[in-house]
Amino acid sequence: MKEFLKEFKKFISRGNVIDMAVGIIIGSAFTAIVNSLVNDVMMPLLSILTGGLDFAALCFVLGEGDGAATLNYGAFIAAVINFLLIAFVIFTIIKAMNKLSRKKPEAPKEEPPKKKACPFCKEEVAIDAVKCPHCTSVLAEDGLIYVD
Ligand SMILES: [Zn+2]
Repeated sequence: MKEFLKEFKKFISRGNVIDMAVGIIIGSAFTAIVNSLVNDVMMPLLSILTGGLDFAALCFVLGEGDGAATLNYGAFIAAVINFLLIAFVIFTIIKAMNKLSRKKPEAPKEEPPKKKACPFCKEEVAIDAVKCPHCTSVLAEDGLIYVD
């Protein structure tokens, strides 16, 4: 018995048991959100589209009398529609979450300019050029311009 309790304590104190419990709790809360979205928002909208048709009430009556069996194909259709709506809602939510968690691509680093315009002849010269190869003017790196 002591050994059993020890093992149980070891089992319960493992991190993944807590993770699992959190997952189940969040999962059931999430289920409530999805069900509410389907039953309270999507189904009424679908009802408008189908002209207020209540799928669940559709059935074939097999036999005669009050005790006759019914083939409730309407309930089956409602279950299929429910499943499709839930699948669609979950797909949409997961798609939105993926979009949020996706890392934004890093902006390409802007390269420092390699060329500058010679202030005298307006030709392009290397950024660190001290003399223009086109007009032979002396270009100073400190911004001062010397003319020879
Ligand atoms: Zn020049």
